[in-house]
Amino acid sequence: MSTATETRRFEAEVAQVLHLVTHSLYSHKEIFLRELVSNASDACDKLRFESIAHPEWIADDGELRIEISVDREARTLSVSDTGIGMSRDEIVANLGTIASSGTRRYLEALSAEKKADANLIGQFGVGFYSTFVVADRVSVTSRRAGETTGVRWESDGQGEYTLADVEVARRGTTVTLHLKPDENEFLQAWTLRSLVARYSDHIAFPIRMPKEADSAPTDEWETVNSASALWTRPKADLSDEDYQGFYKTLSHDFGDALAWTHNRVEGNQNFTSLLYVPAKAPFDFGNGRDERKGLKLYIRRVFIMDASEQLLPAYLRFVRGVVDSDDLPLNVSREILQQNRQVERIRGACVKRVLDLLDRVARDETDKYATFWGAFGNVLKEGIAEDAGNRERIAKLLRFASTASEGTTPSVSLDDYVGRMQAGQDVIWYITADSHAAAKGSPQLEALRSRGVEVLLMSDRIDEWMAGYLTEYAGKKLRHVAKGDIELDAADAERHKASEEAASGLVERLKDTLGERVRDVKVSKRLTDSPSCLVLDEYDMALHLRRVLKQTGHDMPDSAPVLEINPAHALLKRFEGEHDAARAEDLALLLLEQAQVAEGAQLDDPAAFVQRLNRVLLG
Ligand code: ADP
Ligand code: MG
Repeated sequence: MSTATETRRFEAEVAQVLHLVTHSLYSHKEIFLRELVSNASDACDKLRFESIAHPEWIADDGELRIEISVDREARTLSVSDTGIGMSRDEIVANLGTIASSGTRRYLEALSAEKKADANLIGQFGVGFYSTFVVADRVSVTSRRAGETTGVRWESDGQGEYTLADVEVARRGTTVTLHLKPDENEFLQAWTLRSLVARYSDHIAFPIRMPKEADSAPTDEWETVNSASALWTRPKADLSDEDYQGFYKTLSHDFGDALAWTHNRVEGNQNFTSLLYVPAKAPFDFGNGRDERKGLKLYIRRVFIMDASEQLLPAYLRFVRGVVDSDDLPLNVSREILQQNRQVERIRGACVKRVLDLLDRVARDETDKYATFWGAFGNVLKEGIAEDAGNRERIAKLLRFASTASEGTTPSVSLDDYVGRMQAGQDVIWYITADSHAAAKGSPQLEALRSRGVEVLLMSDRIDEWMAGYLTEYAGKKLRHVAKGDIELDAADAERHKASEEAASGLVERLKDTLGERVRDVKVSKRLTDSPSCLVLDEYDMALHLRRVLKQTGHDMPDSAPVLEINPAHALLKRFEGEHDAARAEDLALLLLEQAQVAEGAQLDDPAAFVQRLNRVLLG
């Protein structure tokens, strides 16, 4: 039976992906084999799961397997599986359109970036299309489990494909590549075997190839991979290469994982977890739109679903891996997972494992940890707010820029800070700002700096929010240098009191001149070099965060800032001695405006500021 062949066009995006893939994967072209084997393995996983409800689907041939074979005459390479197969509609949906929203986003990002990166492509499920890097024609024949007839899909990857109903001898899918003229290496059995060994050894199903005799294939098949789920093997039997190979298939990352932790828990509840921390973030990671995926739940070796959201909190969403439970029921649903006590315990254990792992890397492999921090530090920070139970552990893993360290790279831990605290210092000081430069140059930290007190410099958007939850570490309070009163020692307090009294007239006059523009004017304990700065009450939101919220459409009530002044500064002396009212007003406004600029604010009326500045410079 073979109905008339139907020709269809690829969805526009598919054509685009095909073009990108064939033009950017050439240096990694052998990955097509890994992708085909991975699809075949997924198909076997699906059938194993569905056959629980439909045992008759595997009654005739229960062995789930993958076969790789070549026809040197015809110059074809075939990858075949006895998995779930595809119906006509499924083949159209899966191979003729881009079903995955991840791929769509990838395309959006690419058209913005105007460049294709093989590393990115790998992550976005464009797996099947990688066949067109080495083949000028690909045909897929498939028969879905439970059906009696099949379908053939064929394309040269140029914009169209054909579909025909055909007889297919057995359940599953066969992908046949008609190799391009210069791709003969993929007809060599040993090339294919070494690729399987490198990329697909840990695939849990047997991968078979024909036995060779005198360099020619025989009718006998032999298994060419270990064919056991990697995570079920004892740690002692696994090499770093084994772990990295498994990571690559799991994550579609071309690069190595940064670190991993492999554990078997036995007791009330038995499960195995293998959790990886990647070295690099996927391109659209952490923008809040990414679907949470990357942690696969197996139950007694049967793949159930991606259960990242159920098994890990959002702040560990960079983790990739596998959890295999011996105890959960196979028919478990997402809803059940959400409120299952066993799952809760597995989740708790996974969190602990990942934090232990990060702890170990932070302690023993500083460079690796810096890489991790650069890629995922901002994600981990969310845990300070979200996971109160592990707050202290997560806080230990945080890294900051600081007035005591060179450069902008965050490398100082809270333990480093506490270890360096001065005698009598009982507060961990920090400042938040829009940028590292703004934080570092803040006038508010002058007095602390002049006394050699270290200040942590925070300039990521999330920092102010995080700091709201991180009020204490190792029994020490964390304090924002621009918020609230700064307590100094007794001698300083005396001096401050005296200088406050001496400047009371000056303060009053500034208040009069600035009027509504300020909530208050105070003599500062923070300043040594600068004439003025803005400060906040202890529980006020940082000014830069107010700006962000306002820009993103939040209703922020206007609130005038508190201006602190340094009466010893020449500009304040000048203001004091200025008898001309207009010029005194110019000076007062400049004191306020420069404090705003130093803090990173946009001035309400920059042109007026410039005119004022010029009048004072020339006056
Ligand atoms: P991904 O595997 O990331 O989903 P692919 O491009 O590799 O992306 O495959 C697209 C889809 O085609 C798969 O999701 C699957 O539904 C289907 N598919 C591919 N190969 C097979 C196969 N051997 N058996 C069954 N379905 C397959
Ligand atoms: Mg795939």
